[in-house]
Amino acid sequence: MSASRTLVAGVDVGGTNIQVGMVSGDHEVHDRGKVPTPTSGPDAVFDAVAELVADLDGDPVAVGVGIPGVVHAGQVLTVPNLAGWDADVDLVGGLTSRLDAPVTLGNDANVGLLGEWVAGAARGARDVLGLWLGTGVGGALVLDGRPYEGSRGSSGEIGHVQVQPGGAMCGCGRRGCVEAYAGRRMMAGAAHALVGAGRETRLFAIQDEEDRPRPTSSVWARALDEGDEMATQLVDSAVEHLGVAVGSAVNLLDVELVVVGGGLPEKLGQDLVDRIAAAAGPWMLRPSPELRFVVSSLGDDAGVVGAAALARAAVIAG
Ligand SMILES: [Zn+2]
Repeated sequence: MSASRTLVAGVDVGGTNIQVGMVSGDHEVHDRGKVPTPTSGPDAVFDAVAELVADLDGDPVAVGVGIPGVVHAGQVLTVPNLAGWDADVDLVGGLTSRLDAPVTLGNDANVGLLGEWVAGAARGARDVLGLWLGTGVGGALVLDGRPYEGSRGSSGEIGHVQVQPGGAMCGCGRRGCVEAYAGRRMMAGAAHALVGAGRETRLFAIQDEEDRPRPTSSVWARALDEGDEMATQLVDSAVEHLGVAVGSAVNLLDVELVVVGGGLPEKLGQDLVDRIAAAAGPWMLRPSPELRFVVSSLGDDAGVVGAAALARAAVIAG
């Protein structure tokens, strides 16, 4: 079988869902699966991943896994956003024992950008910032033509770049991070607080109408579409603060491309990305004249494709 026809499973473990796909060497996803992420700890997540992969059409020669934590040298150092996890969980061992294939780990934002870089909106670019707007705000880098993970695997954490010292409380326990303004979980918290203070919004009514456990990206998109004042203000604030963070990152790294992905960009598309670009403009000192801001093109598949590419590279490298 040629390398391009061997199948590799890509797994994207998110705070909300686990997505898997069977991916060929040309980065095409041939079969997909998805379940809500179990909240009862690592073993339940391992079981869910093993079941999803087993249900896919085909036998993978390797499995790549993107995980929302700091990954360095194949080990998970921290997993802040999954319930019941600590840094000592043996993720590779737990998964390898359930899967009949070698397992390669990566950070979820990094594999998302890797997916966009090998097969999506960042193809062929040399210096890229990936910005993922989801439950939190994630980031990843390609620098000088290769994925950049930093000295300990925690580069690209643009969500915890400070945009307002002493500002809003972030999930990480610090104040004024951009995630405190632009992460969906924190935005929902701000909306609850405003309702508690007597403001009105349709957000939570839409959430109920759509039978969602929390304001998802589609709930936010619909509230914006309906002209909901509070949702509009919170998204405006998110865009403004993202502009500060991204503009500062461009000053530091001189990237040629900013790829924006995640739930809300998927719903709102290039319009939202153009707004972030406009908000970043005033903060940028000497951006490349070639600098472009684009919405991710693989959408939900980015993490799956990137995780598979990571595992394929690891297997080929031996
Ligand atoms: Zn933070």
